[in-house]
Amino acid sequence: MVALQDKSDLRQRAWNAAASVVDPEIPVLTIADLGVLREVAVNDGHVEVAITPTYSGCPAMNMIALEIELALEREGFRKPKVRTVLSPAWTTDWMSEEGRQKLKAYGVAPPEPASSRRALFGVQQIKCPQCGSENTELLSEFGSTSCKALWRCRSCREPFDYFKCH
Ligand SMILES: [Zn+2]
Repeated sequence: MVALQDKSDLRQRAWNAAASVVDPEIPVLTIADLGVLREVAVNDGHVEVAITPTYSGCPAMNMIALEIELALEREGFRKPKVRTVLSPAWTTDWMSEEGRQKLKAYGVAPPEPASSRRALFGVQQIKCPQCGSENTELLSEFGSTSCKALWRCRSCREPFDYFKCH
């Protein structure tokens, strides 16, 4: 029996498979949460996925591309293609609200949307993900991974990571 596959169904299946891939550095976030997954197209049964790295040269991207291919192959798509799109550049505004909440629950301060970013003497103030205090200080530009900076809260004294890729 040959069933005529609805094209939008196929695209949805491909999207769901690609969207299930998580960021290797922050495993609670999917690439859909991050806004890294830009586009999924299905033509004649061939899937092409477009991704935009959080910053150019992000070391996690090769791994993410490979994971997408594997996820699509598991769904039965053969020889999926993953394309990296550098323009327009990724911005933190592409991160979903759900993604921000997940980050916070993970103990990492989510990036402030560019539109509501507040700066004090040219230094961005980051809210503590633990207690919400804005009385925080930057300890190191480099946290546990290249995508995070290490901050400390002066109110609850806890150090925390800030997701800083932009
Ligand atoms: Zn705190």
